[in-house]
Amino acid sequence: MMLDRNLKILLVAAEVTPFAKTGGLADVAGSLPKALATLGNDVRVVMPKYRPISDTIRTLFDFPVQVGQRRETAVLRESMLEAQMGDIRRTVPVYFIDNYHYFDRDNMYGYWDEAERFAFFCRAVLEMLPRLNFQPDVIHCNDWQTGPICMLLREKYSRDPFYSRIATVYTVHNLRYQGNFPREVLSLFNLGMEVFTPEKVEFYGSFSFMKAGLVYADVITTVSSRYAQEVQTPEFGERMDGILRKRSHDLFGIVNGINIHEFNPKTDPRIYRNYDINNLADKKDNKFALQRELGLPERDVPVIGMVTRLVDQKGLDLLDEIKDELLQEDIQLVVLGTGDPHYEDMLRRMKEKYPDKVAVNIGFNGILAQRIYAGSDMFLMPSRFEPCGLGQLISLRYGTIPIVRATGGLADTVVDYNPETGMGNGFSFDHYSAFELLHTIRRALSTYRDRERWEKLMRAAMEADFSWNRSAAEYLEVFDRAIMKRREWAQIA
Ligand code: ADP
Repeated sequence: MMLDRNLKILLVAAEVTPFAKTGGLADVAGSLPKALATLGNDVRVVMPKYRPISDTIRTLFDFPVQVGQRRETAVLRESMLEAQMGDIRRTVPVYFIDNYHYFDRDNMYGYWDEAERFAFFCRAVLEMLPRLNFQPDVIHCNDWQTGPICMLLREKYSRDPFYSRIATVYTVHNLRYQGNFPREVLSLFNLGMEVFTPEKVEFYGSFSFMKAGLVYADVITTVSSRYAQEVQTPEFGERMDGILRKRSHDLFGIVNGINIHEFNPKTDPRIYRNYDINNLADKKDNKFALQRELGLPERDVPVIGMVTRLVDQKGLDLLDEIKDELLQEDIQLVVLGTGDPHYEDMLRRMKEKYPDKVAVNIGFNGILAQRIYAGSDMFLMPSRFEPCGLGQLISLRYGTIPIVRATGGLADTVVDYNPETGMGNGFSFDHYSAFELLHTIRRALSTYRDRERWEKLMRAAMEADFSWNRSAAEYLEVFDRAIMKRREWAQIA
């Protein structure tokens, strides 16, 4: 059965660039819909309306949402994303679910009633659809906050013909964040204990938002092929590997793209000096300006950058182990990040001990991030695991050579440099070990000294295509598959 390609798609995510962002999920949720829209699909996005999102967005209507015993009100607001590819221009409507009680708070996440906030959100997303007169072919759910939508569709809404044909695709951006809560949370969805079984949503005694997505979605994706394999093993499976193995025929990996217009060293207004593949020498001005801004000596030494959440996943314990040996080298290390206080302190101490070699900025700063991508020679991502990773993709685009651990999306996108053949676009190591990390950085440093080889590497990096168009085409295939499966199941094909 061939499906027409003009699909109606609703993407649901807890964060969407440029409205709200804490990590890579936001970039995907802000970019993929634009690419899908320019390919001719009717794509819409929905997310919560957090406090900092400007009030200038348009208000559409409000409607009641049942959350356990509470009857809450959702206010639906709307803004949009502008998409452009060549001469094609499209707008993607972005809906915001607003509720003073749940979302008018200082932060996006981290509250005692997290389960209730996102239970409300999931139910509101489904309730808004008939009121908008929008019946998607597929709902694309992302990460734990949206998992229960897949469950609600099957367990609660499927008898209603408006909902029964809607297929679901559930994308895991990071399996570690699962949204596991006490079983009582189930009552927020007004579902009975009959779904609280290991085959359904029970997860080691808890109700798991993530599992509700993994069990009920028609198709599951992860954000790289390697990660799709890895999550089926106990080492990476975060205790979900059993269910993922069971669903392996419905599990696909699609590597994220990046917005190549936003991340373009030739036009990026955030960096000190624009450059491209024909003006690689201009990249160096970015290095000197970065050193000046961060108070490092202005010298032509290899600068290694890191822009990252400071959490265990990102391999900071490896950096901790090798720091003293590494900083014997004539290099500079520039870190921007925020997160675990333990790693923030570790970095501050490094900076105190090596003030001429280390610059540390604790915080989230989109402008400085770009200046680091542009001004560094190398970009470090020694992750313990990495579902896709955007940092290495952005750094490749800026001709900044990634040094990564070959896991998840890092393994799919960074090809280890082979000095014999000259092939590769970065440096990678297999085992999560400090020794291998140090050795790999040293390999990069010695290659750097050979200007000709290094420039060849920079060119290979900048020429790689990680635009969204390729990923969007793969998502469309997966959406088709989910829709066919749903229609067959509903016997209305
Ligand atoms: P994750 O989603 O696990 O945080 P990714 O590499 O997929 O990791 O995405 C991280 C994104 O967030 C990148 O675009 C990176 O540049 C950005 N980022 C991370 N930390 C910061 C920070 N402190 N300031 C600015 N941008 C950051």
